[in-house]
Amino acid sequence: MDSLRKMQPVKRIALVAHDNKKADLLDWVTYNKTVLASHKLIATGTTGTLLEKILHVPVKKLMSGPLGGDQQLGAMIAEGKLDIILFFWDPMMAQAHDSDVKALLRIAVAWNIVIACNRSTADFVLTSLLMEEEHAISIPDYSGYLNRMKE
Ligand code: PGA
Repeated sequence: MDSLRKMQPVKRIALVAHDNKKADLLDWVTYNKTVLASHKLIATGTTGTLLEKILHVPVKKLMSGPLGGDQQLGAMIAEGKLDIILFFWDPMMAQAHDSDVKALLRIAVAWNIVIACNRSTADFVLTSLLMEEEHAISIPDYSGYLNRMKE
């Protein structure tokens, strides 16, 4: 049976942008500065450094994406330490760390994390009424899969 996890009114938001999408993310972040500054921000290394320059608030910086940052985010999701990911990934260019990108997208879906992969979705997420409220999300129960695999 699924269980519930409470998101607090202050959300833990991870931001990641591939190189060709960094300008787009920074432009979006500049526009949404005030709202973003009221939440806890986490980012992959390079993205985080750029964000701090714009936002003037601390951003928890992980390793750079290709060096393990995407996997660190995946681990945080599995441990229930992230609420939202804003992931501006590049649909036009293969990445050296494509496998990590795929793994991050997969684990976000697996744990029912809020994930926006483009600007329009990020707009809808950030303006959701739920952003300012406590909100319970369901944590899927995968024990059925595990039992089937053991049979
Ligand atoms: P970066 O990583 O913020 O260190 O550039 C982003 C990524 O490619 O995952």
